[in-house]
Amino acid sequence: MIRPFSRCVVMFSSAVGCVLLLLMLFCAGAPSPQVVLAESPSPTYLVQPGDTLTAIAARFGTDALTLQQLNALQDPRSIYPGQTLLLPALPGGGMRSWTPYYAALGDALDALARPAGLTWEEAARSNRLLNPSLLRVGQTLYLPSAAPARVITVASTDDTRLALALRYDLPYGAALRLNPQPLCAGALFLRPGGGASPHLPYPVTALNMTAQPVARGQTTVLVLETAIPASCTVTFQDATESCYTPDDAHADVGRLYAFIGVLPLLTPGAYDVTVHIQTQDRATDVTLPLVVASGRYDYERLDLPADRQSLLDPALSQHERVKVASLRQLRSAERLWEFPFRYPVQGAVTSYYGSRRSYGYGFGSYHEGTDFRVEIGDPVYAPASGVVILAEPLVVRGRAILIDHGWGIVTGYWHLSRIDVAVGQSVAQGEIIGAVGNTGLSTGPHLHWELWVNGVSVSPLQWVHGLAEAGLSTD
Ligand SMILES: [Zn+2]
Repeated sequence: MIRPFSRCVVMFSSAVGCVLLLLMLFCAGAPSPQVVLAESPSPTYLVQPGDTLTAIAARFGTDALTLQQLNALQDPRSIYPGQTLLLPALPGGGMRSWTPYYAALGDALDALARPAGLTWEEAARSNRLLNPSLLRVGQTLYLPSAAPARVITVASTDDTRLALALRYDLPYGAALRLNPQPLCAGALFLRPGGGASPHLPYPVTALNMTAQPVARGQTTVLVLETAIPASCTVTFQDATESCYTPDDAHADVGRLYAFIGVLPLLTPGAYDVTVHIQTQDRATDVTLPLVVASGRYDYERLDLPADRQSLLDPALSQHERVKVASLRQLRSAERLWEFPFRYPVQGAVTSYYGSRRSYGYGFGSYHEGTDFRVEIGDPVYAPASGVVILAEPLVVRGRAILIDHGWGIVTGYWHLSRIDVAVGQSVAQGEIIGAVGNTGLSTGPHLHWELWVNGVSVSPLQWVHGLAEAGLSTD
């Protein structure tokens, strides 16, 4: 610590001629004078295994009773891992205008805070970070919007702001604005605009992920950029899936996409995602934490009309279950879909994906799709382009269609009154594929729509109006 410290003294005194005490504060990373920061819209905390309300309250400078009242908890002992707790807002106000930022691999809080005119201590405090040096990819941070600046280098003992400004051809004033404190060895020197983070493992130049925490039953998207052409696989929960590359000629070289379907009944908590990146002559592994929250799911009890009770017999559904299950596992290499998906029908949602349900007093399960209230005969549209892989009447699912959209994405449509497509047929987004009905194991006219990612059932609505923060785009 001696060498960088003395270096700072020399730099700072030569540049500004300030007092030694102030320099010591800067170099030791001590908090700068307290700035009253804006109020978070709704700061939250994800309960971890072993947490108690008292321990959480102590960590965030509040008390258990306040947390209990704020979250309307009947019993302070009833918190569970994966539960989201509201925290009291910080004094002040105005953070509502701050914009969410989703942390990418290699991001450092200091490098994000400084272009926005904050110190890392202020950013950590306003975002209630327990450990500012441990940002998760996809973690949501609230920051004042500012021109993006990236870390250009980690300063060595001989670097000064002037020397680095000259080396990177920056106006000295701009260098001082982004780097208001004298450089210590190991400090981040920021440059406006471009430049990759020095923390990224070669050949990775960017790694973005859907916002965390991810509710179980949701899709997580990883978007990876590499300096040279590479391939990758992603391992989550013992399942390894290939990354996909856009194969059209205009796409960037070295951009890879991976999709993780988080099982709807997975125990909430932190899981590892391992990204294995392979180039012609080198392999690199990056392991990221993925925080899975419980999500909010309804409970439904369905009563079937007497004449359909027999459809609950597992023996009756065995044949179609095997057939549908194998088709949902498809992972076609060509992407046919565009993002975002559109709704397959115009109608209100009557039952959301993931609802825990039981039929009468029979077996319990969860709802593998989203149901819409629509009239018999209403048109059903393809929500995205794809190829029809099943189009036939089934015992439980009624008249049914499955569409393969490519890259491991398969959608299903059940209980139709009419099927307008045939197996092998290509459909475009918005094309009519059939009509709403009440066939099979159904309690009234409705459309059941489901979406599978690499054989895992996930919420289809997220593909209509979510996922954009991962940088998922098709143009
Ligand atoms: Zn349904």
